[in-house]
Amino acid sequence: MTELLPVDVVERPRGRCAPVRLSSGQRRTLDAICDTFAPPLDGRPSASELGVPETLIEAADANLSPSERTQLRLLLSVWEWQRGRRFTSLSLPERERVLRSWCDSRIPARRAAFQSLRKSILALYHMLPAPDGGPNPVTTRFGYPGPRRPAGDAPRRRSIVPLPVERDVELECDVSVVGSGAGGGTAAGVLAAAGLDVIVIEAGDHYDDADFDGDELRGWMRLYLQGGATATHDQSVGILAGACLGGGTVVNYTTSFRTPEEVRHEWARRSGVAAFAGEEFSRSLDAVCARLSVNLDHGKASSRDEIMRRGLESLDWHVEAMPRNVLGCTQDVDCGYCGFGCRVGAKQSTVKTWLADAHAAGARFMVGARAERVTLANGAATGIVARTRDGHGVTVRSRAVVAAAGSLHTPALLRRSGLRNANIGRHLRLHPVTGLLGVFDEEVRPWEGTIQALYSDQLRDLHDGYGVRYETTALHPGLMVGFAPWRGAADHAEFVRALPNAGVIGVLLRDRGAGEVRVRRSADPIARYRLSDYDVEHVRRGVDGAARILEAAGARRIHSVHAKDIAYEPGRGSRERFLAEADACGWRAGQCAFYSFHQMGTARMGSTPESSACRPDGETWDVRNLTVCDASTFPNASGVNPMVTIEAISYMNANELAAKLR
Ligand SMILES: Cc1cc2nc3c(=O)[nH]c(=O)nc-3n(C[C@H](O)[C@H](O)[C@H](O)COP(=O)(O)OP(=O)(O)OC[C@H]3O[C@@H](n4cnc5c(N)ncnc54)[C@H](O)[C@@H]3O)c2cc1C
Repeated sequence: MTELLPVDVVERPRGRCAPVRLSSGQRRTLDAICDTFAPPLDGRPSASELGVPETLIEAADANLSPSERTQLRLLLSVWEWQRGRRFTSLSLPERERVLRSWCDSRIPARRAAFQSLRKSILALYHMLPAPDGGPNPVTTRFGYPGPRRPAGDAPRRRSIVPLPVERDVELECDVSVVGSGAGGGTAAGVLAAAGLDVIVIEAGDHYDDADFDGDELRGWMRLYLQGGATATHDQSVGILAGACLGGGTVVNYTTSFRTPEEVRHEWARRSGVAAFAGEEFSRSLDAVCARLSVNLDHGKASSRDEIMRRGLESLDWHVEAMPRNVLGCTQDVDCGYCGFGCRVGAKQSTVKTWLADAHAAGARFMVGARAERVTLANGAATGIVARTRDGHGVTVRSRAVVAAAGSLHTPALLRRSGLRNANIGRHLRLHPVTGLLGVFDEEVRPWEGTIQALYSDQLRDLHDGYGVRYETTALHPGLMVGFAPWRGAADHAEFVRALPNAGVIGVLLRDRGAGEVRVRRSADPIARYRLSDYDVEHVRRGVDGAARILEAAGARRIHSVHAKDIAYEPGRGSRERFLAEADACGWRAGQCAFYSFHQMGTARMGSTPESSACRPDGETWDVRNLTVCDASTFPNASGVNPMVTIEAISYMNANELAAKLR
């Protein structure tokens, strides 16, 4: 079937491509850009004094695809010449003007380049240690404590021991499972419990409680896809996903909603998969909630949540406690560092649950190994071909394959394997999240406390089941600057200094519009996505509501996260004017910051090959014994945080597969 491989997706494994290698001119331009975003100021070091350019190049080597590396080199060459003058020869105010002109450019590619540089340079600037190895000299100035405890003082509970791969290997089993996150982890647990011989292939590495020291930079680099730098093609939405054993379930915020009844019925009606509304799916949800110990007993509100509650209650709006998949969660200062792994072992990730079950039932694990393609014969899956980071080839022959590499990488894997169904990669939903920052007189320390304790569904149904929900989460400097506008170094420093007193309200959109995942020549996926007018209207109403919540909670100043610094002081400025300024700046690529924590729908289940990529039991329409078991299977956006839904679908599909193989 390899002859079916489209020519533009010939595999070139990561780690083997040439390093970024900048020319001396490109390097000087990069230094100058970094030191324009963050020059020495009021005793703070410059970005280059902190080593930002070197780290950026290292991160690019580790995380960027070959085409992205070429783009970076090209960008730096183009950047150096600004209207006939060398960027590196300009004064600081002139260089700042150049940066703003790229930020406000009418050309989307320029805005995208600006946003990509802004996010990566400023995130590193606020996360890197001091040159002497001490804490970051910028964030310590406003009281951010950095990592909570030295690594290694948490109990070491590691039970899973991955297979060592020191040469090319060939293995055999019943089912190869690609990916170990919410979907892959559950499938592995179910299949191994059914007595099948399972091998889990995971591209990321294996970390456990003792490895999680709460350091933001280490957390992003080790545990997140591309170190947290993934974004849509135009940088309009940053895409966050886990990339370690356990996938997103290791870094996620433990919010554990069952699929809402109305969404289940909508899915059954629209996709033709009756099971979504039926007993079997209800039983799957029950089984997942039981295995993850989902409970309402760990809802001690952080100061961020208290602010949100205060605002919601004084507006008489809906507010409720989050169901969470934790056991013995301390709900204290440490808990705010949960996005970089739970050091007390309370989070019931797949590593603690389904993968532990699979391991106990004899499953084998391979980490740091990236599945390149599924092997096929006579229209059926026969195993996978993978490559380790060190370049060793791995061939697994199996009776069936589970694809669970997440909604970006599963469609890429299917395409690389020669599948042609037109729906593979289409229908991408992102639950784009924007937010408002309220500055309070009281100290909030938004990086502390229960990661997510409360939510509001007040505006969940603005039209036809689509709308926004409100949640708040721990805000650390690196994540904060991802959202924060940059109009000049001094204004930016002022903005970031407000972090200890900032309350944040996240506006999470159930998007009706869709994007798509394409596969680049380098074989890596790239997401294309544009907010529809319908969705923009809901975001706008969500932002208006968030401003009302922060006003009612007593915020002294309220900031949006647009590319321009748009803010007002309740009682002095008006919310209407604030929204008018936001409208004038715009809500799309490079105009307003969005992040996606939930990617869905790129290999959706359905009743016909014309409308979907997979059959009602998750098997692909193109290839037998190849079953998709991750968020790609969603018919559209779930509207709630998706982990429990993903696991329930995976549970259902894996049970079907087990029955078939038995
Ligand atoms: C910061 C954050 C917070 C979140 N909070 C919540 C929350 O509170 N509640 C909630 O319900 N959801 C939350 N989510 C979302 C949820 O965690 C994800 O939707 C879910 O983990 C996705 O499951 P998945 O199986 O589709 O993919 P993932 O969990 O992303 O797993 C995919 C795995 O496949 C691996 N992989 C990719 N390509 C390959 C390949 N070629 N070969 C081998 N392995 C590969 C990846 O490394 C990864 O480990 C959060 C997500 C993030 C990033």
